[in-house]
Amino acid sequence: MSALIAILPGDGIGPEIVDEAVKVIDCLRDDFGLDAELETAPVGGAGYDAAGHPLPESTLELCRRRADAVLLGAVGGPQYDDLPRELRPERGLLGLRSALELFSNLRPAILYPQLAGASSLKPEIVSGLDIMIVRELTGGIYFGQPRGIRELENGEREGYNTLVYAEHEIERIARSAYEVAMKRGRKLCSVDKANVLEVSELWREVMIRVGRDYPEVELSHMYVDNASMQLVKWPKQFDVIVTKNMFGDILSDTAAMLTGSIGMLPSASLDRNGKGMYEPIHGSAPDIAGNNRANPLATILSVAMMLRYSLGQPALAERIEQAVSRVLDQGLRTDDIADGGSGVSTREMGDAVVAALRNQEK
Ligand code: NAD
Repeated sequence: MSALIAILPGDGIGPEIVDEAVKVIDCLRDDFGLDAELETAPVGGAGYDAAGHPLPESTLELCRRRADAVLLGAVGGPQYDDLPRELRPERGLLGLRSALELFSNLRPAILYPQLAGASSLKPEIVSGLDIMIVRELTGGIYFGQPRGIRELENGEREGYNTLVYAEHEIERIARSAYEVAMKRGRKLCSVDKANVLEVSELWREVMIRVGRDYPEVELSHMYVDNASMQLVKWPKQFDVIVTKNMFGDILSDTAAMLTGSIGMLPSASLDRNGKGMYEPIHGSAPDIAGNNRANPLATILSVAMMLRYSLGQPALAERIEQAVSRVLDQGLRTDDIADGGSGVSTREMGDAVVAALRNQEK
């Protein structure tokens, strides 16, 4: 049966970079037998403009009930900054994450050898880096109750949040991470703070228990403070890292910045059945929107993740990744990775990836 992909371009550079990703999907359909249909819908500021809400009912219905996977560009823009909080573009994104129960956030940090100079670390430390951070996305301290700011008897105010994980929440993120590790190098490092936090003690226990179902995966544990050091000291020691919401928030940004190129990194957010939303890690870049200058590669690589994690097409995912590597070999660079010089346009980059795909052996 044909897969349905929801296409949500969003705001700013979103429509420009998503156009290039759609070209790549079209090429896979025409030349490589991908059986997929696309349906486009507005979200974020575009949703507000079209239907008065950042997550219009019809977009939600498409993503929740009918689509097998969602490809999102980016949301946000200065023209929406004065809207009430519940109508701001970001609400569309958060609404989708919670409505689709996307608890597992996959953030790869990949450094193409051709771009090793873009990192702030020495090339030999980061060249060829390929790690995946699996971050729990819908639980932990960002959502735990009670939370708030209260007044104490002495009149002083006190802020408080609750770090809480139920066993089933740990178990499902553990399974998600083991599944990811099975598709990669079969090494999983669980990052916690079990020397201080009871939540982490339980986390560790569940990680070990779930691991019995994945004997091929080598599990290790690391405290989060050490993990942050190791990520900048010798990042290539990692294959897959799994961690709680807040630790993952911080560590995945560190890992992303090791690669030095925000326009290159895709991401996925998955539910328990592997359905997912795929998007570049960057935002809507209003400063360059409409100029045909944005780097579309993070969005194109998000399509590769979609093929691997939601559509069961790892060979097509690899084709896209090889095509991207090929255009970098050819020296094509958009402005953000052009090392000071002027790069090719968004459309030229998309066209080059499609051409590289077409040149591959069938
Ligand atoms: P940003 O990621 O949009 O931009 C940061 C810098 O990186 C800018 O200079 C931009 O030009 C550049 N950049 C980003 N993506 C690029 C690409 N593909 N090619 C070339 N250059 C690129 O972050 P910001 O400026 O902090 O936020 C802008 C808007 O995006 C805000 O409204 C913010 O809320 C929103 N945002 C959305 C998401 C999302 O949709 N997931 C994520 C982050 C920020």
